[in-house]
Amino acid sequence: MMNVTTTATYSPKKKIPVTILGATGVVGQRFLRRIADHPWFYPAFLAASDRSAGKRYADACQWHLGGTPYAGLSDTIVAPCTPEAAFAPIVFSALDAGPAREIEPLFAAAGSYVFSNASAFRMDEDVPLLIPELNPEHFGLLSSQKAARGWPGAIVTNPNCTTVVLAAPLAALEFRFGLRAVMVTSMQAISGAGYPGVSALDIVGNVVPFIRNEEPKVESESNKILGTISVREGVAQGSAADSQGTAQKHGAAQDRAGHSKVVSNTEPASIIPASFVVSATCTRVPVIDGHTLSISVKLKTPATFEEVADTLRNFVPKTAPYKLPSAPEHFMLLSDAEDRPQARKDVEEDGGMRITVGRLRTCKILDYKFISLGHNTERGAAGASVLNAEMALAMGVIPGVGE
Ligand code: NAP
Repeated sequence: MMNVTTTATYSPKKKIPVTILGATGVVGQRFLRRIADHPWFYPAFLAASDRSAGKRYADACQWHLGGTPYAGLSDTIVAPCTPEAAFAPIVFSALDAGPAREIEPLFAAAGSYVFSNASAFRMDEDVPLLIPELNPEHFGLLSSQKAARGWPGAIVTNPNCTTVVLAAPLAALEFRFGLRAVMVTSMQAISGAGYPGVSALDIVGNVVPFIRNEEPKVESESNKILGTISVREGVAQGSAADSQGTAQKHGAAQDRAGHSKVVSNTEPASIIPASFVVSATCTRVPVIDGHTLSISVKLKTPATFEEVADTLRNFVPKTAPYKLPSAPEHFMLLSDAEDRPQARKDVEEDGGMRITVGRLRTCKILDYKFISLGHNTERGAAGASVLNAEMALAMGVIPGVGE
């Protein structure tokens, strides 16, 4: 396992310019609020569709968040989503999947590292689907991606906003006991549908038992995230449970913070997905922010209630040694209260970056069941991408940037 007992601080020598694609949307605004106040980054370009390009930011969108309206950038002119108009070495994408498929590769081809929320490339074999607390070794895919696609830059994705709330407790259990089967029912916030989202007449006083294209994502993304990175020819292998081993086999020595890192490797790498099966039912509920999941699991190795509780309570994220600005104090917190987690009371904790788990019980059909809650537009979107970029910089994955 990765050594998590030492600490180290990386920070760039100067602030890094970034571009926000889809800056006018629900997630784009959360990106801007984070970047405007970030110790490593500053917003160089706010980009959106042709409907918005050329307008003042305040005229192109309605600000939905608290804090300084438009993060103080009301008068910034929105750029079109092209590298010619809006190049930066780091790009955060809050585009819908359709435009993302066209636009993100243009930036990667121009040399940007694109940290994307969109589903467009998440399941591509050579694209990391990253939760840095769980699988930073999957940055090892980037050398294959760059070689195969001929890009000086690259695309890194974060999972669907429901997957991240699921994958966190699953990771702890998979690493310790192994998982056979997972049943999950999600109660997803309205903000997950973008702005203006679901009509009030459809959602007030109601539960909508269908979210288009959601269940296939939730049933597959955790397997990739918790999968094993493998270099073909059988030279190197490592699981998400063993990032240090993998990093060393990828030819790494020390990163900028003094830890093992993933470096370029000419061998094509791929992910062997974790073997557990996931069955998902996704629903939309009248909550503004925060996805709540009811999860039941079947373990591979028998475990007592106390062992399962300890495992969820004491999980150590792989970001722990790095002191990243967006990393929450508690990546995952197990609540002992009988009626928590609750979206209204818990979802904003740790800047919206904490996963709160509670109501751990034995399950009469599978082995154990519990509730997991996370912020869909922070932990599940903007905060996730920013944390991915911070981890990439701290691990030395983005050469030359910030130096
Ligand atoms: P949204 O509020 O509808 O915003 C979409 C953004 O994309 C807007 O800035 C829009 O610009 C821009 N855009 C749309 N079509 C475009 C085009 N053809 N070219 C360039 N820009 C275009 O959506 P959202 O909820 O922020 O979601 C953004 C992405 O994040 C989606 O891929 C979504 O699946 C993902 N995501 C969302 C959540 C969530 O909880 N909301 C969580 C995780 C991931 P205009 O304003 O100019 O139209």
